Amino acid sequence: MIDHSHPGADTLRRNEAALETAVKGASQLAQERTLLLREITLATQEKAQERQIFLIVINLADTKNYDEIIRIFGYKLADDLLSIRLADMDFVGTRQTAYRVGFWSVGLIFRARNKRDYDEELDRMLSVLAKPVICRGIPVAIKAGVGICDLMKASGSAEDLLQATYLAGQAGAASPLGVAECSYDSTVDHRRAFLLISDAAHSLATPYEFSLRYQARVDLKTGKCDAAECFLRWRHPTLGTVMPDEFIPLVEMTGLIRELTIWVLTASIAQMSSWHALGHQLKVCVKISSKNLEEEDFTQRVAALLENHKLAPEFLELEFSERRSVPDIESARARLRELRDLGVNISIDDFGTGTNSFGALESFTANAVKIDRRLIQSIVDNPRRQALVKSMIRMAHDLDMYVVAEGVESPAMLEMLGNWRCDYAEGFVINRPIPAEAFIEWYATRFASAK
Ligand code: C2E
Ligand code: CA
Repeated sequence: MIDHSHPGADTLRRNEAALETAVKGASQLAQERTLLLREITLATQEKAQERQIFLIVINLADTKNYDEIIRIFGYKLADDLLSIRLADMDFVGTRQTAYRVGFWSVGLIFRARNKRDYDEELDRMLSVLAKPVICRGIPVAIKAGVGICDLMKASGSAEDLLQATYLAGQAGAASPLGVAECSYDSTVDHRRAFLLISDAAHSLATPYEFSLRYQARVDLKTGKCDAAECFLRWRHPTLGTVMPDEFIPLVEMTGLIRELTIWVLTASIAQMSSWHALGHQLKVCVKISSKNLEEEDFTQRVAALLENHKLAPEFLELEFSERRSVPDIESARARLRELRDLGVNISIDDFGTGTNSFGALESFTANAVKIDRRLIQSIVDNPRRQALVKSMIRMAHDLDMYVVAEGVESPAMLEMLGNWRCDYAEGFVINRPIPAEAFIEWYATRFASAK
């Protein structure tokens, strides 16, 4: 209960009221969605010879557009816009019931007697949606989209069909015609993505589902291996091996990226510490997500792991990339500074292919840059790319950073990079990412005796 005599009571009361409205809104949406799901199930069971039955989801505004509206006009006007647009859509309810299925979307079952009937209904919807909404005298253009699923042809559960049509509505908003048909592939992809997101937490807690592979980094001056970079692999119980390029971006959309990175750090730091105990003084390079840099206690967690495993911070290198944008530059900067102060090395990954690589050198204090493998792989017979890589190396050195070339696949590339004074190289020409036991065996036979 709230003490209403408190000076902040009004604010609290307002917050409480807003929360109550939001909760009510969410449960109403869930109820309407359930009703539509029941209609979809009934419609798919109908043996309609003379009719075509469609599920239609109208996305009243795409999310980017909505965010922009909020930024420019504020929440109040955005809410008013939604009410006006929903009232505009009243016509869809004249022949069939329209249900709210999302904050900005409505869904309905449309039974067309023939093709003409269908075309007319669609035109009617698109022409209403194309008009700007007049809100407090201001005409505001809203980008809407219509998603369509032919229920007589589609297969799958009512939920899958609704999800796929919802996605088609979003695709419709992005297309010039404003309409998109539901694609079965997108349902399969989204079902797979959903499965991966929902299973990640369980897999992280299950031994052997996630594991690490190690790849050598070699000093181009001495030819010795000084570090191992680790890459994550996921053996999903039903989907088999899933590669990080697929699951990392999905996990990054959830709060679980925090647990995932800590899992990788714990496993790799423990591994390194046991190799140090055997006399192999290797560094370990771990890729972190830019989202991790927003975690206020990230540095403390890294420090605690190093401490627990008795590994000196200089043996850890954290790689981060700007490829998937850095959401909060200020906290990222502060976190990188803390990590550097702790004695951990920082490298900017994917250098040379991001949209803002040179900006990254300015914004973030790092010890190293890693030139992206796509750039490295194109150097062999491309003089312009060669000039680019050479100048990147020079520039990094001028800024007191060392340079790692990744994705080196041939001895010719290795030689070229050595001649350009690139400091380190990684790639299939040296070794592929392999499990820990295989890596240390490989390392011991090649390098350990020459130490
Ligand atoms: P990345 O950081 O650019 O990693 C390099 C990728 O190139 C790795 O793929 C590696 O196996 C591969 N590679 C290494 N040498 C060569 C080569 O000579 N030729 C070619 N063609 N490829 C080479 P992988 O393991 O599939 O990882 C893909 C991406 O997934 C990584 O790109 C990284 O962004 C992300 N990733 C991998 N492990 C982790 C992790 O533990 N945490 C995070 N946050 N991301 C990870
Ligand atoms: Ca990389």
